Amino acid sequence: MDFSLNEEQRMLIRTLQTMGEREKLKERAVQIDRSGEFPADLLGKYGKMGLLGMTLSPDHGGGGQPALNALLAIEEMAKYSPIIAGPIFESNVGPVRVIDMFGTEEQRKTIVPGVCKGELSVSVCMTEPEAGSDLTSLSTKAVDDGDHYILNGRKVFITGGGHASHYFVYTRFGDAPGYKGIGGLLVEKGTPGFTFGKQEDFLGLRGMPSCELIFEDVRVPKKNLVIKAGDFNKLMLTFDIERCGNAAMCLGVAGAALNESIAYAQARQAFGRPICEFQAIQFMTVDMAMKLDAARLLVYRAAAGAGQGLPSIYEASMAKCFANEMVIEVTNTAMQVFGGYGYSKEFPVERMLRDARAWGVAGGTVQMLRLTMASVLYGRRFDQRRGK
Ligand SMILES: Cc1cc2nc3c(=O)[nH]c(=O)nc-3n(C[C@H](O)[C@H](O)[C@H](O)COP(=O)(O)OP(=O)(O)OC[C@H]3O[C@@H](n4cnc5c(N)ncnc54)[C@H](O)[C@@H]3O)c2cc1C
Repeated sequence: MDFSLNEEQRMLIRTLQTMGEREKLKERAVQIDRSGEFPADLLGKYGKMGLLGMTLSPDHGGGGQPALNALLAIEEMAKYSPIIAGPIFESNVGPVRVIDMFGTEEQRKTIVPGVCKGELSVSVCMTEPEAGSDLTSLSTKAVDDGDHYILNGRKVFITGGGHASHYFVYTRFGDAPGYKGIGGLLVEKGTPGFTFGKQEDFLGLRGMPSCELIFEDVRVPKKNLVIKAGDFNKLMLTFDIERCGNAAMCLGVAGAALNESIAYAQARQAFGRPICEFQAIQFMTVDMAMKLDAARLLVYRAAAGAGQGLPSIYEASMAKCFANEMVIEVTNTAMQVFGGYGYSKEFPVERMLRDARAWGVAGGTVQMLRLTMASVLYGRRFDQRRGK
């Protein structure tokens, strides 16, 4: 078993570090958090650097690279902030992967090159006011109308909402109950009847667009059908790579919190000595490093197993669940290392803790991930409605 990164991967990380310094991304992260403005200018820059669509198929402008390379890029940029890493996440592990893997040739030709250049982006639209963890009870409905579907429903908490050019909408087709009636449709921004609610005001992840989507008698051409009803498992399979991307965000944020803590512990004096000379501080930072490394191994294992395809549901769920809880613990400990200054907006660790809190809900809660892992361990599904 080889745990080392190859030369190409090490070079990717060095390139991103150089770019981060050149573009002053550390300072930019602070400014984005204060203003709440999405850094749209980064999209073009990332596109030119080949960071968008690294994992997408080369025949439409993608990089054809293994999932691990994209996760390394997400991790590295999330050290600045998840908002700065956001476009790399969306274009590599987001719903564009579903289109790339399962879409028609026309859909791929329309979407993938634009995503790789940073001109288009696709949001994943699953959650509804009454259907979050219980996704299979979603009620957004697409009704057959000749060469179109008529789409009605509401989605909430949609990352990229208002900003993205395209929306990959999980919807029910016909009256089949549960997962059997669910498929996925691509809806373009600006389609009549498709509007946005107000932007969310979250605890953290400030600068990441997120809002409600409202579909009122939206006519969606049938050629925009990506996943037909009954192929729900394809939707869930591709979502496993998104789970790894979510976990890579956690690695980045926790890595930055650890680096900040080590630097601060050497600079801050108490009792006439740098606080890093106190064993309590050493133990806190070592525990942070241990938890981060354990999470990193789980994420890289899932990614290595995926290769250029998709990871195992068990490994991806375990990696996300562990990383989601790890990043909260690590950023919380970082705040303690910083004492009173950790609680102040003058230093970045309070922002890191606020950002950390999102990941164990976004992309599936840590409770739902445990249910997924339990079904693998026991070799059977536990129906949450019947409790058996
Ligand atoms: C920052 C952020 C970004 C997001 N981005 C997107 C996006 O881009 N697209 C999108 O579609 N959605 C997005 N979401 C929504 C997210 O996927 C949902 O919030 C999440 O799936 C949980 O659904 P819910 O909020 O309805 O909570 P609920 O499902 O109501 O859950 C409430 C609580 O009950 C627990 N629970 C529910 N059922 C069970 C059970 N059977 N056993 C044990 N515990 C249970 C949950 O774990 C949770 O703790 C985002 C959310 C956040 C916070």
